[in-house]
Amino acid sequence: MGAAMADQPGEATTDGAAGSAPVPGRGPGRPEETAPGVYRVETGRGLTEANVYLVRSGPGWVLIDTAWPHRGQLIRAAAESLFGAGTRPEAILLTHIHPDHAGSARELAGLWDLPVHVHPAELPLAAGRYLPQYGNPLDRWLIAPLLALMPRRAVRASVSRSSLEGIAVPFDPAAGVPGLPAWRTVPTPGHTPGHVAFFRSQDRVLITGDAVLTVNLNSVPDLLTGKHRVAGPPYISTWDWPAAKESVAALAGLKPDVLACGHGRPMTGARAATDLASFSARLSAQAPARRSGAGGETTAGGSQEQGGRARPSARVAWRATAEERAMPLPGDDLVPSPTAQTTHAVTIKAPPQQVWRWLVQIGHGRAGFYSDSKFWDRCVDWYYRRLSRHQPAEKPTAGYHVADDSRIVAAWQHPQVGDIIADGPPGTAYYVVRQAEPGKSFVLFTDTHLRYLLPAWLRDSPRLGAFGELSSSYLLTEPEPGTTRLIRRMRIRCAPRAFCAYVVPVVLIWGEAITARNLLRGIKRRAEAAPRQA
Ligand SMILES: [Zn+2]
Repeated sequence: MGAAMADQPGEATTDGAAGSAPVPGRGPGRPEETAPGVYRVETGRGLTEANVYLVRSGPGWVLIDTAWPHRGQLIRAAAESLFGAGTRPEAILLTHIHPDHAGSARELAGLWDLPVHVHPAELPLAAGRYLPQYGNPLDRWLIAPLLALMPRRAVRASVSRSSLEGIAVPFDPAAGVPGLPAWRTVPTPGHTPGHVAFFRSQDRVLITGDAVLTVNLNSVPDLLTGKHRVAGPPYISTWDWPAAKESVAALAGLKPDVLACGHGRPMTGARAATDLASFSARLSAQAPARRSGAGGETTAGGSQEQGGRARPSARVAWRATAEERAMPLPGDDLVPSPTAQTTHAVTIKAPPQQVWRWLVQIGHGRAGFYSDSKFWDRCVDWYYRRLSRHQPAEKPTAGYHVADDSRIVAAWQHPQVGDIIADGPPGTAYYVVRQAEPGKSFVLFTDTHLRYLLPAWLRDSPRLGAFGELSSSYLLTEPEPGTTRLIRRMRIRCAPRAFCAYVVPVVLIWGEAITARNLLRGIKRRAEAAPRQA
């Protein structure tokens, strides 16, 4: 996890846990012996969870990683419970400089009067500043735009709080591990440029940092259930994905008996090596991804289209052809010179009149958006309930409400230009019907949606001045009798740039890759099944 800055979510919310002594029983602050002389200390729960390791070596010991900020006292207390009052490590090592691993490094270096050792390639990150060349998707999509909004003084203060300048010192990875003669350093670049893992070959104990995890931070369901499985680093905070994949393969080659990771419970026994090997094989079989640095830009910026990119399509082909992406569509004029545009299409074995009847029923309190995913509906529900909280008290509206998405409902069949189609609790986001030609075209427009992707305190900030409009157009054609080609185009225009940098990726992921894709699939499934009339 983590990003270039230390002042990330998690810091502010968890101050309560800081400074407390280790509590008896399981849980944060209590050391657990993962392997002989290797102790894991959990330092938080949920989003603030991160492991640090205390490793015994002869009469001394070494600390590997320092968790989020304000965990210094908790880590010191855990160490004193193992090694006695007033104990001090031989060295502090960092697998990499992210706020959930290096957050308390400054505090602990001060407490013990020690430097922290990092791989030489990691040193540029020590200054705590945002460096575009080392940026990961989270940095580019969220941190950099937020920094641009923050007052300079606040940025400087935040940088100086997280800076490890004068504290971080490079060590020679080929010369062994500072303070741990029985261990060796395994360079594992990718998650960050100078990421390292540590390996004790005599009993094959591997401390992986974020190069390999035993919880999948890339899957929300896995995260919620805490499923114990080998996984790669979190994509969103990974600098160079192809290099990260090679690092996973390098670690699999070590055939570890113990996987002690930066996040998740350790994995021990034969399973550690076999699960890691099969995970690495699956990962290498994936189509070669581009360096993550190229990811964000291609989706924004007018002519480049998300729809043209190859993406794994599980159950519905929704790629539009080159002609479909280039052709003008009704509603294009509503959002001139868009910041981003996508075009998707699906072929449905039913005549346009049939498809039309499902299409025009969409909307909150109507047929929803045909997601057919209970999990996704719950996510939307959660979001709607959050929005409702900020509404006037006399309107205690519920969350995401779908009246009926399995029938044709006569009352919803005749949309008129100017009709309002809700997409959120009353008083929040809604679409306006701008064109409705039965069986042919359906165009929705909104300038209410995008602001609601911001937290309430930023939504109406005059300093930000967030503006955003979006059109979704649907064109139905009949390439051969009884078959519909349903083409959907989304155009978005927003300002200022910082707001765009945040909102465009959210729209492309939440609005397009998930919601729009579900929608096309849901309409196809319903239109191709035997119709049921209300
Ligand atoms: Zn990390």
